[in-house]
Amino acid sequence: MMHLVTGATGQIGSELLPALAEVYGADHVIAVGHRREPAADMPVAAYCSLDIRDQAALKKIVAKHRIACIYHLAALLSAVAEARPQLAWDINMNGLFNVLEVAREHQCAVFFPSSIGAFGPNTPKIDTPQDTLQRPSTVYGISKVAGELLCDYYQRRYGVDARGLRFPGLISYRTPPGGGTTDYAVEIFAAALQNRRYQCFLKADTQLDMMYMPDAIAAIIQLMQANPSELQHHNAFNITAMSFTPEQLAAEIRKHIPDFNIDYRIDPIRQGIADSWPAHMDDQAARKEWGWQPRYDLPAMVSDMLLHMR
Ligand code: NAD
Repeated sequence: MMHLVTGATGQIGSELLPALAEVYGADHVIAVGHRREPAADMPVAAYCSLDIRDQAALKKIVAKHRIACIYHLAALLSAVAEARPQLAWDINMNGLFNVLEVAREHQCAVFFPSSIGAFGPNTPKIDTPQDTLQRPSTVYGISKVAGELLCDYYQRRYGVDARGLRFPGLISYRTPPGGGTTDYAVEIFAAALQNRRYQCFLKADTQLDMMYMPDAIAAIIQLMQANPSELQHHNAFNITAMSFTPEQLAAEIRKHIPDFNIDYRIDPIRQGIADSWPAHMDDQAARKEWGWQPRYDLPAMVSDMLLHMR
């Protein structure tokens, strides 16, 4: 069974590729990137360069490699999308539409990563329910809600096995994040190690859901391997591993680097986005339906990040 990853050189893709290679064998993994190439030692059968808005080119790759499962990660992230809303809509919506169309024609399963950005200012912020009000105020969020609905539609209408997760902010050290609102929680580690200080673009008390990358990668693989008869939702599962503020993250880092200092210079655009997102999602549906269980909490994540970044 062949697996294809779009957005393969991004923050998630660059970690999903080796994980898929470990589970299914490198000769079963095809990487699809855009402008960057994956590292030379990345264990994949082939690398293809493609603009995800080009449906014909995607179709050729899927047919040539007899792809059974597409992990569709190519997208513009929240802060980048707010700066270039027309382009974000084009890439995020037409990209997903092309993936679903090709999946329909070639009977592929699809993984689609949604986000806490799919919620909005009127969504309950604490214990955000799996099924709740979703009226996001960003173009990124609108593209994610539309994406969730389009996946549901393709599943209902055409039987495409489209599954997905609503990721919180993802923290990792291999590939820098691509311009999201939670990027501070990654940048802070390099700044703490190099300069002993970090200037944060979100307010000290901005509480958001977060997850360490190994948990995110495990969740993708586990969800795609889950028995379909156990899944009631299939798509857009809330998942979270921890929920913290910049102040709480800085305090945890200070346990390892006592002279670390954080100060704040608020970016109104990213603060506005963060203020419209939940502080803590309820992920019971994921836990019940396919056994979601994170391994890393805040102290474990901080220790591991510092260990690897040192
Ligand atoms: P990233 O920005 O690191 O990677 C996205 C990739 O998409 C990039 O490698 C880029 O080259 C590619 N891309 C952009 N435009 C393209 C185009 N026109 N054609 C083909 N490829 C194109 O993002 P990521 O953090 O790896 O996120 C992957 C997915 O997960 C996205 O859908 C994102 O919305 C979602 N997500 C990420 C996070 C997070 O914290 N990283 C949280 C929630 C959801």
